Amino acid sequence: MAPSIQLASPPRRDKISNADQQARSNRGQPLEAPQLERESGRNLELIWLLKGLKPGYRTIANFRKENWKALKAANRSFVLLARELGLVGGTIVAIDGSLFHGDASKASIFTRKRLGEQIARLDQEIEAYRKSVEDNDAAEAKKPGKDRADGDGRGDGGDIAAKVAALMAKRSRAEADLARLEESGETQMSLTDPDARLLVKNGQGIAGYNVQTAVDDKHKLIVASEVVNDSSDVRQLSAMAKAAKKALGAETLQALADEGYYSSVELKACEDEGIIAYVPLPEGSARLEKQGRFALKDFNYDGATDTYRCPAGQPLHPFKSRQKNTSGRIEIRYAARVAICRSCPLKVRCLSPTTTYRTIGRWEHEDVLERHRARMQGAGELMRRRSGIVEHPFGTLKCRAGYRHFLVRGFDKVRGEWSLMALCYNFTRALNILGFDGFLAALAKRLAVCQCIFAALLQHILVAPEPLWTNIRPPLQIGRFVPA
Ligand code: SF4
Repeated sequence: MAPSIQLASPPRRDKISNADQQARSNRGQPLEAPQLERESGRNLELIWLLKGLKPGYRTIANFRKENWKALKAANRSFVLLARELGLVGGTIVAIDGSLFHGDASKASIFTRKRLGEQIARLDQEIEAYRKSVEDNDAAEAKKPGKDRADGDGRGDGGDIAAKVAALMAKRSRAEADLARLEESGETQMSLTDPDARLLVKNGQGIAGYNVQTAVDDKHKLIVASEVVNDSSDVRQLSAMAKAAKKALGAETLQALADEGYYSSVELKACEDEGIIAYVPLPEGSARLEKQGRFALKDFNYDGATDTYRCPAGQPLHPFKSRQKNTSGRIEIRYAARVAICRSCPLKVRCLSPTTTYRTIGRWEHEDVLERHRARMQGAGELMRRRSGIVEHPFGTLKCRAGYRHFLVRGFDKVRGEWSLMALCYNFTRALNILGFDGFLAALAKRLAVCQCIFAALLQHILVAPEPLWTNIRPPLQIGRFVPA
């Protein structure tokens, strides 16, 4: 049972015709729970599959919400099956992320800035009411006694008091939300789906989640995936690559990602796990190159003397002290001599207008980045393949299946729903690659191998020496089968 899709103008549930359902089903689009309920009483294949059970739409919807663990496990198992069937290459994966809408609106998610603005706006409204009451009082006071309003002298003061009270209550709620947000240490708070966040990527802003996938190069199957609520991909590379390596059972793995994943710490984490990562270098050095200035790659490091050689052939020596940079990395700074830089004919291409000598920061694990830079020199073809590999699943799920929204709330359920969608994608892909008969034949073949292994194991157990039976039979409480 697949989660439903959200269309731009969703049809009323009770108005969806059988023809619509059939058309959706034919297009491979997931059906909503009420549609699945109807199909369970109409579609002969489904009636057979469910052995005549006709679950209500609420049962179907709850099944998806309550069985997130099983859905994730089923997805993992299918990747193992794909390995068994030779559908994955296991040497190259491409990693990417895509934003999916959550079951929350943008208006239901608050940031500190937004709450602050709301409180300021409410203060202004309250102040405006207070002023209008004062102006009203002053005008009333100027009138002759017989023309003054009765009661408290405020005309429609009762209405205004109620409005001010409502605004004050709203302000108290906003202040309480702000206090809760600050106490939690989070940057955002969602009033509907607690884990959905306002995310922005490539100019696209949504309230929802960032789905990360690692896709195998051979047949573009999703071998690992995760749902996070961080807009940025910069902290996701090693976790995704490690998950893919584990799922593929590979000794080593090449992981391709776009420049949004570039992080020195993540590259090191990959290398520590035997993962060879390919991530384009960020704009930082490209910016210097565009300005016609020497970038880090123009300086050669000599490990024997622990110095850099600049393009003019002059040495840059290290400072003794170590510094922690803004991202927490420990760096050693190397500097050229002021006198040499001052008289250098290349200084226009090397120094910024405000500096008199060149310095370079070297991360304590810079050798990791040097190896990565060297790899990227000849990785043009690999990087061209990257987008073709990883964008296939997202393109298929978003454009063909129309799946862009999560229908459940909270990380556990959302991850379960995503696992179901990844499983549907992988299963459809396996059927497309092998064909239905081919898929069944491959399964039967694997089953036969398993049966052979099981039969061989059984044979070994049957001919096991009597002392073994004497030792293991009592604790396991088993009897020995003696063939006729
Ligand atoms: S300015 Fe200094 S560091 Fe730069 S190339 Fe000239 S000598 Fe080397």
